[in-house]
Amino acid sequence: MHEFSAALSIVETAVETAKQNNVVRVTAVNVDVGEFTFLIPEQLIFNFEIASKNTVVEGAELRVTKTKGKLKCSDCNYEGDSEVDPDVPSQIAAFSPMKCPNCGSSATAIVGGKEFIITNILAEVNSS
Ligand SMILES: [Zn+2]
Repeated sequence: MHEFSAALSIVETAVETAKQNNVVRVTAVNVDVGEFTFLIPEQLIFNFEIASKNTVVEGAELRVTKTKGKLKCSDCNYEGDSEVDPDVPSQIAAFSPMKCPNCGSSATAIVGGKEFIITNILAEVNSS
């Protein structure tokens, strides 16, 4: 399960960060999710709630921001945001080459958007 392993990894990172910072309760976790991870935000949030049970992260809100994928075209040297064909379902798009938005070539390589990054963790810190 793609989303579950991603959610688990977010929870583990948040728990680790919380430990290092005297956190009593994590209230929100912000993540940037690259387009080419093909993670579904709703699924990610659902799995995050399961994965965070009985941890300091339990009850925290997972806020998912989708970031654009990056392509590099070997025909015209375009490098930049990908433009996903809205008619192609993401399950299929994951396995088909992305067209260059500049020249339409399929000689493209994915150079970004396969990662998800925790950008910010909001928490209550034990100040006593
Ligand atoms: Zn091109």
